[in-house]
Amino acid sequence: MKKLLFIYLFLLFVLSATVAGENRVVVIGIDGWTASSLSKADLPTVKRMMREGASTLSVVDELPTNSPTNWSSLFMSVGPDAHGLTSEGPMKAGYVPKYPSVFTLLRDQKPQSEIGAFYEWHKIKRLFSKGALNHSQHLPRMFDVSLVLSVAPYIKQKKPTLLFFHIDATDHRGHTNGFDSPKYLKTLEKYDKKIGKIENFVKKADVFADTVFMLVTDHGGKGFHHGGDSPEERYTPLVVYGKNVKKGYVIEREVKIEDIPATIAFILGVEPPEEWIGTPIDEIFMK
Ligand SMILES: [Zn+2]
Repeated sequence: MKKLLFIYLFLLFVLSATVAGENRVVVIGIDGWTASSLSKADLPTVKRMMREGASTLSVVDELPTNSPTNWSSLFMSVGPDAHGLTSEGPMKAGYVPKYPSVFTLLRDQKPQSEIGAFYEWHKIKRLFSKGALNHSQHLPRMFDVSLVLSVAPYIKQKKPTLLFFHIDATDHRGHTNGFDSPKYLKTLEKYDKKIGKIENFVKKADVFADTVFMLVTDHGGKGFHHGGDSPEERYTPLVVYGKNVKKGYVIEREVKIEDIPATIAFILGVEPPEEWIGTPIDEIFMK
């Protein structure tokens, strides 16, 4: 009997070791995403992920509340005093980020990892250190949401360990039509459907059970602008959903934007460097 129990436990161990694969993260960056849009737009995918995952509507972004500053902090887990990028000015060809990003950490510590980025804002590619990505693809023709589908073959064939997908149309709508304007909300709604598609591509690639999805942003917006210190510009949503994430969990503690890369590193099992100031939001995971 004891022997049978031993065999049973052994098989269970082998089975669980083979069923649970390596952790993967899909980060979807919605540029200029306001916290207030959640109560105004019809966003079934985002809201389902909030219901079945963990979330906050008040991540503290860095000042100035613009894209270079906050995407840098979201990748490198340091503030603008350290990374020094507070405008697009320095983001020219050959720009070298000052600190290791979550992409470079993964590349250095787990060199076999497949890392990909798809982005509507072409300049964001300057923030990915050379050699960190296996796949880097600009999506031209903003507002053409069908371009989201171009990520499908990549997910299917490469099953990335870390995928970053950047949506810029939301920020553009904010500037041309106003943040939280009907057109801005409509654009968000269109992308909400596409986020659901990306989730389905991950399911079709058979890696859904290994994957954590993160919906993030760099800043909000007020009127037709952002960059300032108003709550509308500075406090933004974060949704984490998927493998091992608690369901319907509202993050109570203050989350700063640098905690996001720290959390990605935590999920992927890579060690952050001393300079990183973020803390993993580890309370959102089931023990
Ligand atoms: Zn903008």
